[in-house]
Amino acid sequence: MGRYTDASCKLCRREGTKLYLKGTRCMTEKCAVEKRAYAPGQHGQTAGRRRKASQYSRQLREKQKVKRIYGISERQFRNTFQRVLHDQGVTGENLLIALESRLDNVVYRMGFAASRKAARQLVHHRHVEVDGRVVDVPSYRVLPGEEVRLGASGRELESVAAAMDLAARGQPVRWIAVDREARAGRITERPSRDAIPVAAQEQLIVELYSK
Ligand code: SF4
Repeated sequence: MGRYTDASCKLCRREGTKLYLKGTRCMTEKCAVEKRAYAPGQHGQTAGRRRKASQYSRQLREKQKVKRIYGISERQFRNTFQRVLHDQGVTGENLLIALESRLDNVVYRMGFAASRKAARQLVHHRHVEVDGRVVDVPSYRVLPGEEVRLGASGRELESVAAAMDLAARGQPVRWIAVDREARAGRITERPSRDAIPVAAQEQLIVELYSK
């Protein structure tokens, strides 16, 4: 049997759902969640059966899940929450929108990288421009209308072509327009919650941080 479990996959198994952290592999039968639908570790198969999860535990797991989906640290996650706390609207929804607006996530959503981690590398390696200027900060908040484009060095990368093939087989989000030929795109509007394909109960995160 081939090797299929690594640190990223363990995070998915811990949360009991696919977090899509490994790009192409997540779409195949090699996915660890599909092969082993229980938590990792010695007691993984019995962990969920022992007792009913407390409300705190549910809140904590939801926060961990969303944090892991976007691949950011606790400090970054909490800072993002603090930033949207006093915005108009529903705080949980605003949190997800802020996470979706991160440059690494936008590059991923545009299909230029197979995972957010790979998108972050593109940004770190200065392959990404925003409105004609190189931005190497993955947390940069992309505003609707700003053009995100791969620079000349990034456009020819094989990993980008492979990611775009993968993205073409998926369902694009409707609030991002992409020009595949130009390797560029824009957020066209502020997304509504139903247009963000992340299965999360963000209200639980708001409750956790509001204690
Ligand atoms: Fe691993 Fe991707 Fe499956 Fe998660 S979704 S377990 S990262 S293959």
